This record gives sequence, structure tokens and C-alpha cells, in this order.
Amino acid sequence: MSTPFLSVKKLNKTFPNGVQALRDVSFDVQKGEFLVVIGLSGSGKSTLMRCLNRLQTPTSGEIIFEGSDIGKFQRPEQVRSLRRKMGMIFQHFNLIPRQSVMKNVLMGTLGIKKTWPSLFGMFSPQDKAEALKNLKLVGISEKAHLRADQLSGGQKQRVAIARALMQNPTLLLADEPVASLDPATCHVVMDYLKKINQELGITVVANLHFLSLVRKYATRVVALKEGQIVFTGKPEEITQEWFQKIYGEGTQDVAPDIF
Ligand code: ADP
Ligand code: MG
Repeated sequence: MSTPFLSVKKLNKTFPNGVQALRDVSFDVQKGEFLVVIGLSGSGKSTLMRCLNRLQTPTSGEIIFEGSDIGKFQRPEQVRSLRRKMGMIFQHFNLIPRQSVMKNVLMGTLGIKKTWPSLFGMFSPQDKAEALKNLKLVGISEKAHLRADQLSGGQKQRVAIARALMQNPTLLLADEPVASLDPATCHVVMDYLKKINQELGITVVANLHFLSLVRKYATRVVALKEGQIVFTGKPEEITQEWFQKIYGEGTQDVAPDIF
């Protein structure tokens, strides 16, 4: 078998307050996968994602990416160059509300630029063309000159996707990308993530809450419970029994929509 795109081995993260957020987490991600991480709130999904892009430092274990153990990266320039390869999308979009959509997307180049002009909002024509191309890709180029705070939630998340694409990532990490959106809008945003995965060949790792979305979009699933992996497999393999193991007995009665 070929070398995995990303390999997580016996990853542990214990916070200074003693919380063990991740315990011996091991899994591989193959290039081109759309891997979805599921689990109850507090199960460690965000911590895992933050270890992958090194917003957090793992306590022990390995994260092998492009031949290096990136979990051990310490020098700021190593971590910066790593983050350039990983686009991030967040639940609350993290746009700058009073700036234009275009400016928000152009901000995505800041991580890959060393030039001062870009810091003062002087972006090159090539950057602007690239931003417009990415806005077109998520079907929202006609909003380029609106202020970000004039958009709906779904539109904001599409802008955030366009921004993430500005750094030409090989991996897109999405932490609950649709958790703030209504069900219909969820599908629109997820469809764009799928398009990016399939058409641009960008590997996606996303945390998702609803199993219906997992079934529709994930090529493979990892389930966390109290910081440990309790399931790895294809979405269609998550039976009622597995669901109860992952989410706990009786969960379906209180949250039938997750299933
Ligand atoms: P999820 O994203 O699945 O809801 P998190 O990764 O956010 O889970 O949290 C996992 C556990 O780690 C929780 O118990 C949470 O309270 C704890 N935790 C997360 N971040 C920190 C932190 N910075 N300091 C201490 N504990 C944390
Ligand atoms: Mg979380």
C-alpha cells in the first residue's frame, strides 16, 4: 500500500488542567479522502484538528505528514509553513465583518506572503484574479464587493472556503463547518466542500455532528468518544448499534435528528 497522506499514531493530548482530550488516537488519511470525525461534544474532535494544524502541541504520539512528524515541529517558521498547506474552516466563519467579501478572501494569501504591501491591503492583480476565481468556484462572485456582514451564514461559509483556497492547500480542515447553519444551507455548503474535494483533489478532514450529513459526504469516518477512537470505517457501516456505542444509550430518544 502507498504511504498515507497523513498518519496519526498513538496521539495523546493532556491539557495543563489534567483533561485528557485525546488518548492513543491512531488513524491514517489517504490522499483525496473526505474523512469525517464524529463524536459527542467534548469527545476531542476540535483538539484533534488543532493538533493537526499545530494550534495545539500534542503531549505524545506522532503526526506524520509529508515525511515529517509535524507534531514535534517547534520552530515558528516550521509551523507557519505547515499551516500554509492546511486550509482551515471554522463553525463561526471567522470573517472580518466590516471588510468586503473580496478583502476577506484576499486575507487568505497573508499566510503565504512575506511581502509588506499585502499587509496594507495592496494585493496584486494576480491575487485579485485568484480571489475572484475562488469566489466563482463557490458560486458567490457576484457578492465580491458586499461587506461580509451583509451575507447570510451559508454565504459567509462559502467566502471562508474561498479564503482557505487562496493558499492552495493540499489539506482542508473543517471544524463543524455547518453547525451554525440551517439544514438546507448545510447541504449547499457541504456540496461545495465535496466539489473542492473531488474536482481540486484536496483532501478534507471535517468534524460533523449530524449522521445524515456524514452518510452523504464522508468517504470514511472516525468516531471519538472521551478522546478515544471507538469506530473507524465507512459511513454505511455505522449501524444503530454502532450509533449507540458512539453516542451512548438512549441518545436517539433525545436527539433523533443526529441519526
Ligand atoms: P469537541 O470538539 O469534540 O467538542 P474538544 O476537543 O473541544 O471536544 O474538547 C475535548 C475535551 O478537552 C473537553 O473535555 C474540553 O473541555 C477539553 N478542552 C478543550 N480545550 C481545552 C483547553 N484549552 N484547556 C483545557 N481543556 C480543554
Ligand atoms: Mg469542537
